Amino acid sequence: SKTIRLDKYLSDMTSETRSKVKEYIRKGRITVNTVIVKSPDTKVDTDNDEVCLDGRKVGYVEYYYYMMNKPQGVITSTEKGKTKTVMDVFKESGIDCPRFDELSPVGRLDKDTEGLLLITNDGDLNHKLLSPKNHVDKVYFAELKYPLKDDDKTAFEEGLDLGDFVSRPAVLEICENDKKFSAKVTISEGKFHQIKRMFEAVDNEVVYLKRLRMGSLTLDDNLGLGEVRELTEDEIDALC
Ligand code: URA
Repeated sequence: SKTIRLDKYLSDMTSETRSKVKEYIRKGRITVNTVIVKSPDTKVDTDNDEVCLDGRKVGYVEYYYYMMNKPQGVITSTEKGKTKTVMDVFKESGIDCPRFDELSPVGRLDKDTEGLLLITNDGDLNHKLLSPKNHVDKVYFAELKYPLKDDDKTAFEEGLDLGDFVSRPAVLEICENDKKFSAKVTISEGKFHQIKRMFEAVDNEVVYLKRLRMGSLTLDDNLGLGEVRELTEDEIDALC
C-alpha cells in the first residue's frame, strides 16, 4: 500500500483534473473513513483508507490491464504523429481508463500485423514479458505466399540464420487443411520482424500475420478487430 495526497488519489481515480477534485474537497463532498475532509493535501493510504465522493466509494486501482485485437494499418506506438496508433484505437473503443496517459503496449506488432496486444501501466509486467532472458512464448498465425515444405518444420526447430542472429528453436505447425499455405508458429524471442524474417529464411513470404498468444494470455475469439476489453482477474493472476 502507498500513502498519497487525497487530491492525487481522486484525480487518479476519477479522470477529473486536480483543480476539479480540489473543488469537490472544498465543497465537503469527500469523506475519508466517513469523516468529511477539506484539505486536498490530506494523506491517504491507498489500501486501508476508504475514500468516498458523495457517499460513493472511490476504490484505488493502481494497475490496469487490457487486451486489444489490433487491426492492420495502425502502429504500435504511444507517440502522436501522422499515423494512427494503437492508443488511438484504444480511445475509439470507448474504454475510459483513468490512467490512460500511463498506458503502453507490451511489445510491438508491425503496422500490417493483427491480433493480441496487451496494454497496461504495469511496468514490471511489461519488463517481465519482454525481457529476452525470460523467453516468453508468443504464438502467431501466418498465411504464406507459397506452400510450406515438410522440412521447414525441422529448419524452424533447429534455428534459422537470420543474418545478425540465429533464431531460437521454434515450433512450426503447418495447417494441412489450408493446402500448407498457413501455419501456427511459436517463438520464444521477439526480434524486429522476426516471423517475417524466419519465413524469408526458408524462401517463403508472409502475406498475413496475426498474434494469437503471449505467455499465458490468449486472444479472446469474441474480440473483433479494434476491440478492447479488460483482462479478467484470472488472466492477470496467470500473467503476473
Ligand atoms: N514478427 C513479425 O514479423 N511481425 C510482427 O508484427 C510480429 C512478429
